[in-house]
Amino acid sequence: MTATVIDGKAFAAKVRGQVADGVAKLKEAHGITPGLAVVLVGEDPASQVYVRSKGKMTVEVGMASFEHRLDVDTSEADLLAVIDQLNNDPAVHGILVQLPLPGHLDSDLVINSIDPAKDVDGFHISNVGLLGTGQKSMVPCTPLGCLMMLRDYHGSLSGMNAVVIGRSNIVGKPMAQLLLGDSCTVTIAHSRTKDLPAVVGQADIVVAAVGRPQMVTGDWIKPGATVIDVGINRVEKPEGGTRLVGDADFESCAAVAGAITPVPGGVGPMTIACLLANTLTACCRANGLPEPE
Ligand code: NDP
Repeated sequence: MTATVIDGKAFAAKVRGQVADGVAKLKEAHGITPGLAVVLVGEDPASQVYVRSKGKMTVEVGMASFEHRLDVDTSEADLLAVIDQLNNDPAVHGILVQLPLPGHLDSDLVINSIDPAKDVDGFHISNVGLLGTGQKSMVPCTPLGCLMMLRDYHGSLSGMNAVVIGRSNIVGKPMAQLLLGDSCTVTIAHSRTKDLPAVVGQADIVVAAVGRPQMVTGDWIKPGATVIDVGINRVEKPEGGTRLVGDADFESCAAVAGAITPVPGGVGPMTIACLLANTLTACCRANGLPEPE
């Protein structure tokens, strides 16, 4: 292996430490406790795990955690009423509705009913528009975490060729916007892209957000490139049981790349750390206080 392994777990712990310091200062100087509300509809097992770990880390950094667990057949009107109540609750600075929602609920409608100032996931159309036009916004947590790791590793990203594989609203598109904002030359690839290996082979930075286990292999990667692996895929182990793998084949990519994020322990931990950082930012903005760096 030649690549530097970017330790997202350690980086995320550092970010959470900075958030905890910011929270402590807010409490001491202004008597304000940032609050994050998470709304979970239904009992999707993966969502339950995420919500539990978000709640635990929210409390660990000194914030107030509010959890709203709603029945799987909750009506749209009832869910919107919960969001309305949270929008108007001054103790709540961030609201996150755990996706995916059950099929009878319109995700776009629900997300767009969140007060944009409290939309710590950055999925509200106002925040998407602000990000796209380079204005101050709430930035989606997973791409923000990827950008922070890239900036930390490279310093300036200006002029680098970046290929983002995946064009979802929650990862691929905002990731591309952020890289463009940092003056990368950005290509967005997707399922209809022709000769994906050749496209990826041009990249100084590859962000894989596809949802296909170990799809990106070392022979696609330009020597020395940085690979950010967003994918979280559970696969069967030959000896029985399961393990998590990314969208990149770690072994073969690490043999060629200059740097790579592992799965687990790369992008995943940074996502929750950025959620907490966004909640602190939202709280500072709501109170007219300077935002954390
Ligand atoms: P989506 O399913 O919404 O999007 C996947 C994207 O990959 C689509 O744009 C799709 O193209 C593209 N794609 C699918 N197959 C191919 C292919 N063969 N070649 C090229 N592109 C392809 O997924 P998400 O963006 O929500 O998530 C992506 C991955 O990231 C998943 O593994 C998910 O679990 C993980 N994830 C991890 C997070 C973290 O915290 N680490 C947070 C969020 C997601 P098209 O649009 O043409 O269909």
